[in-house]
Amino acid sequence: MTVGDTVKPRPATRVASFRGDRPVKLFLHVCCAPCLAKTLVGLRGVSARPPDLRLFFFNPNIHPLLEFRRRMTALRVYLEREELPAEIDGTYGLVPFLERLDGSFAGPERCGICLGWRMRETARRAKERGFDAFSTTLLASNEQDRDAVLLAAEAASAAEGIRFEGGDFRDAEVPEGGLKGIYRQSYCGCVFSEAERYGPTRKRLYG
Ligand code: SF4
Repeated sequence: MTVGDTVKPRPATRVASFRGDRPVKLFLHVCCAPCLAKTLVGLRGVSARPPDLRLFFFNPNIHPLLEFRRRMTALRVYLEREELPAEIDGTYGLVPFLERLDGSFAGPERCGICLGWRMRETARRAKERGFDAFSTTLLASNEQDRDAVLLAAEAASAAEGIRFEGGDFRDAEVPEGGLKGIYRQSYCGCVFSEAERYGPTRKRLYG
């Protein structure tokens, strides 16, 4: 597997559109079903020529194992409705994730490594499979650091020599019932983000 890059923060400026003179063959990294649903609403809203999509679930940052399986299963269930082609990497990645962090367990540095890995692998596969461009559903999330996602994606684009398509679908509204029965996670993914999410709360396991 290609090694991802760590990227230094800088202001992200580019927000590409999906409009073009022909349908874009787009390899779309998927972080979770809810963000995919928003992205699909957004894509269908900005272009009369929806991209020719293939989805790619690659999230070795999601822990622990049962959470990883919940999110992957939610995507599979959602795809039974949408019937889009998808590559789903079902490898649980706790050890490789920690190895890749190499002790950088804090804040922006950790996220840069995490995002860099996922974007680089997405870009690599998109190029290998002959797609025009790649993108990610992370850009539909209101919880993600958008600049950090764009930065990682642009670095991956430059490293692999394939176009990155951005887009801002954070305000896209999924029609009522569109995510009925689909699991919705409550933290970003890694064990660190889980601790950051629940550490300040009084949530307890047993009453
Ligand atoms: S908080 Fe999210 S983006 Fe940052 S390292 Fe954890 S899983 Fe990755």
